[in-house]
Amino acid sequence: MEHLHTTICALATPPGEGGIATVRVSGPDAYGIVGKIFAPVRQGKSVADAKGYTAMLGHYLLHGAEMDECVALFFRAPHSYTGEDVIELSVHGGTAMADGLLEALITAGCAPAGPGEFTRRALENGRMSLTQAEAVMEVIAANGRQGAALAKSALDGRLAKRIGKIQTALQTLNAHLTAWVDYPEEDVPELSDAAFVGTLTEQKAALDALISGYSAGAVLRHGVDCVLLGRPNVGKSTLLNLLAGFDRAIVTPVAGTTRDIVEQAVQLGSVRLNLFDTAGVREVGADGDAIEAEGIRRSWRKLDEAGLVLAVFDAAQPLSDDDLELARRCQGRPAIAVLNKQDLAGETDVPRGTLEPYFKKIVPMCARDAVGLQALTDAVADLLGTAQLDPEAAQLCSARQLAAATRARDALAEAIAARQNGFGLDAAAVCLTDALQALFDLTGENASDATIEEVFETFCVGK
Ligand code: GDP
Ligand code: ZN
Repeated sequence: MEHLHTTICALATPPGEGGIATVRVSGPDAYGIVGKIFAPVRQGKSVADAKGYTAMLGHYLLHGAEMDECVALFFRAPHSYTGEDVIELSVHGGTAMADGLLEALITAGCAPAGPGEFTRRALENGRMSLTQAEAVMEVIAANGRQGAALAKSALDGRLAKRIGKIQTALQTLNAHLTAWVDYPEEDVPELSDAAFVGTLTEQKAALDALISGYSAGAVLRHGVDCVLLGRPNVGKSTLLNLLAGFDRAIVTPVAGTTRDIVEQAVQLGSVRLNLFDTAGVREVGADGDAIEAEGIRRSWRKLDEAGLVLAVFDAAQPLSDDDLELARRCQGRPAIAVLNKQDLAGETDVPRGTLEPYFKKIVPMCARDAVGLQALTDAVADLLGTAQLDPEAAQLCSARQLAAATRARDALAEAIAARQNGFGLDAAAVCLTDALQALFDLTGENASDATIEEVFETFCVGK
């Protein structure tokens, strides 16, 4: 590829104040170009003769003038980040010296690097896989230490390995299948249907685990939007204040006080929740006021958008029609029923049985007295999958990866269905090929140029 023949340079450290600033140079002419602008301090030293993994002290030259002191660190292809000849030049921090150095390098023949171009070259030279390249980006972008740990686990190639295992199993199966279909006369051992479907099912399960780990990983990295719903006076605002640790929302015994949506970010265990306290949901009769009706409409919309729903019920009262309407709308969603006001509830009052079919979790609480907070924390972690997530395990870390993994999983599901519905092996083989193609896209082994562009567009220059 054309651009592989250029030699690029960029500031690798963050711009601004700092002890040192490092400029990275990579490409076939790195030694030639740096040789023109670097004057070693010690007699007899030269850039051209520098061995990999060594350092040299000197000054850089700009328009023939000796500038700042500069430490050069040498890497020889292929033993470098990009796989090319690389020289890292460190000068004093602040932007002035680094800017001068970049100017010198560009004058001497370097091209300024594009976004992510160093990492892109690393990918093209087989120094890392596409998933690793994406992980580099995630490490830079990750907020929160757990998120950074997750992204980093992909960086050391464990994600590529985890996917590689699935690929290998399916490729073996595919090879066997092809041989058997193409050379029926030959002595290819017959592929039993049980073995075939067995392998597909096993690898589909592995993909399912990867896919479900993605959403949990994303929850840890970015937090989740969580809506508080329930009819007026069940204790939503009290719960919000409890989670926030201070009085964020107005709590009153008068029904219908929370009219607009109150937003508050809170930390619940390892998960950050962006909480939305809503107007109580209930039917507004002919006399109901318009503002309340609008509030309720917005509440239902929040229910559709939220990544987590906390539906609050009054455990001391029988379920009303509004309660049941809420429960029905929660079905199939990531929703937890909070049975609040346990302190007022008698043994027989708890409407648990009625709610069970609609909710994944039911948590009794007394929000006013902070009772049940740990149970709620556990329920949330369990429901969002963060409890089950091994922070050491490699996870998918971009929407692109998720889409490819999902395509592979769906193709395997189709292959299994094809066999179970009595279609021939060739029909299943087509689905299997689709699944493999999706996995190749995922790891970048066969990725199209468009896919690679998409990944590198979001990189910052200097990486
Ligand atoms: P919202 O309309 O759903 O937001 O309900 P609020 O949070 O405003 O609470 C309504 C009333 O219920 C207030 O008087 C609260 O003090 C009271 N309340 C909230 N949680 C509890 C609880 O766990 N037990 C009891 N006994 N009262 C509660
Ligand atoms: Zn309220």
